Amino acid sequence: MTDQQPGLADNLASLETHLARFRQEGIQNHINGKNVPARSGETFETRSPVDGSLICTVAKGGADDVDAAARAAKAAFPAWRDMKASDRKAILHRIADGIVARSEEIALCECWDTGQALRFMSKAALRGAENFRFFADKVASSRDGQSLPSPTLMNITTRVPIGPVGIITPWNTPFMLSTWKIAPALAAGCTVVHKPAELSPLTARLLMEIAADAGLPDGVWNLINGFGEDAGKALTEHRAIKAIAFVGESRTGSMIMKQGADTLKRVHFELGGKNPVIVFDDADLDRALDAAIFMIYSLNGERCTSSSRLLLQDTIAETFQQKLIERVNKIRVGHPLDPKTEMGPLIAKDHYDKVTSYFDIARSDGATIAAGGTAPEGDGFFVNPTLFTNARPDMRIAQEEIFGPVLTTLTFTSEEEALEIANGIEYGLTGYIWTNDLTRSLRFANGLEAGMIWVNSENVRHLPTPFGGVKASGIGRDGGDWSFDFYMEQKHIGLAIGKHPIARLGA
Ligand code: NAD
Repeated sequence: MTDQQPGLADNLASLETHLARFRQEGIQNHINGKNVPARSGETFETRSPVDGSLICTVAKGGADDVDAAARAAKAAFPAWRDMKASDRKAILHRIADGIVARSEEIALCECWDTGQALRFMSKAALRGAENFRFFADKVASSRDGQSLPSPTLMNITTRVPIGPVGIITPWNTPFMLSTWKIAPALAAGCTVVHKPAELSPLTARLLMEIAADAGLPDGVWNLINGFGEDAGKALTEHRAIKAIAFVGESRTGSMIMKQGADTLKRVHFELGGKNPVIVFDDADLDRALDAAIFMIYSLNGERCTSSSRLLLQDTIAETFQQKLIERVNKIRVGHPLDPKTEMGPLIAKDHYDKVTSYFDIARSDGATIAAGGTAPEGDGFFVNPTLFTNARPDMRIAQEEIFGPVLTTLTFTSEEEALEIANGIEYGLTGYIWTNDLTRSLRFANGLEAGMIWVNSENVRHLPTPFGGVKASGIGRDGGDWSFDFYMEQKHIGLAIGKHPIARLGA
C-alpha cells in the first residue's frame, strides 16, 4: 500500500518542505494580528492518520484565549464594517490569489493532516479560492435592500453586518469548509473568530496566513485552536460574539444551541446526513452506478452529502449490485499522496473504531457484507470500501450516519415505498434521484425531505444555489445571497412623505 508509485516520492519530498516550519514552530493562535501561544501555555499534538506520526504541537486555546480573540474581533468590527466595498472586495480577491499561489502546499498539508487523497484535495484548495472570489464579487450588493412604499411612508430596507461571529468547522475537508464559512462572513462585513477542528488544524493556519498577507486588518480574522468542549464552548457562550456558524455533527449542533441560549446566539448549522440515492429501473443505470460510487467512496466517505443509502428498484437490484460489488472491490486504497489513490485512511483512531464497529452491527442485524468489511494490514486508519446488502430500512446501518466508505443498499418495488424509505430517517440533507421519467422525478423531489436534491446527477455544487439541510441535517442556508441573510441584520427605515395624521394624546 505504501509502495513507491510515480509521483508519491515527489509529493512526499514537497510535503517535507512544507511541514518543516510546522515542526519547528508548532501552530499558534492568531489574535489581533499576532501569533500567540495559549494563555495557559498548553499545547496538544496533531498526528497524521496515514502513519500516526507526530506532525506538530498546537496551541490549546481555552476561554481566556477566546475572550481575547472575541474582544479583538469586536474592536476591529466598526472599521471593517465601514470599509469601502471596493476595498473589501479587493482584499477578498487577494486572499483568493494567495490560495491559488499556495494551493499545492494546502493540498499536501490537507492530505497529510486528514488522510484525504490528493486527487480530491488539489481541487478542494482551488474551490476555496472560488468561494472567496464568489463572495468578493457580492460585497458591493451585500447591503442592498428593498423599497416598499406605503401611502404615507417611503419604506426602505437595508442590511447591516451582525457583528463579530464565531465559525466552528469540522475535520472533513477542513480547508474548503473554512473558506465556505469565512468568505461570506467577511464579505458581509463581519469580523471572525475561527475555531477549526482539533484533528486537522494545519490548513486553517495556512488560510489565516494567506488572509494576513492579503492585507486583512488586524483583529478581523482571529484563529483559536483547541477542543470543542473548552475553546468551542467558550466561543458559543461569549457575549461579544453575535452568531455561530457551525459545521459538524447533529448532536454537537444541539449542544451549541443550548450553550448559546443565554446570549441569544443566532445559529447556522450544517450537520449530519444519511442521504438516499434512489435508482428507478428506467434510469441511465451506468451513470447512476458511477454517481452512487463516487458520492460514497470519494473523500473516504467522510462527506456530509455522501450517498450512503442506495435504494434500488427490485427489477434491477441484483444486476446493479453485482456491478457495484465489482467496482467497489477495485477502488484503490492507499497513500493519500499517491496520485493513483482513490481512498486514504480515516481521520483518527476513534473514528476508525466507530466506522469498523458497523461491520459487526451489520452482521448481527442480519445484513450481508458484500464487499469490504475489513481493514488492510499495517499502520494508519485504513479501511476497505464496504458494501452492505440485504439490509432493512430500520437497521442501524440504514439509519445512522457512519461517515466512512460504507454503503448500505435497500430495495423497493413502488415509488411510494421508495419515498417512505427515503424519508424514514431523522436526517434530510441531500437526495439523488435517478429516473428518465420527468413527471416522476418532479413528484419524487416534491415529496423528498431534503434540503438539496439532484436528479440524474451526483452533487454538483453551484455557488449561487442554497446549501443546507432539513430535519437533523441543519438550520439555515449558505450560498448566493442566503449567506448574507445569516451574517447580516435587516434594517427597515420608514420616511414620511407628507404630513400624515399623528394621534395627538393629551393635546
Ligand atoms: P463535531 O461536531 O465533532 O466537531 C465539529 C467542530 O465542533 C469541531 O471544531 C469541534 O471541536 C467543535 N465542537 C465540538 N463540541 C463542541 C461544543 N460543545 N461547543 C462548540 N464546539 C464544539 O464534527 P466532526 O466529527 O468534526 O465532523 C463530522 C460531522 O460534520 C459529520 O456529522 C458530518 O456530516 C458533518 N458535516 C456536515 C456538513 C454539512 O454541510 N451539512 C459538512 C461537513 C461535515
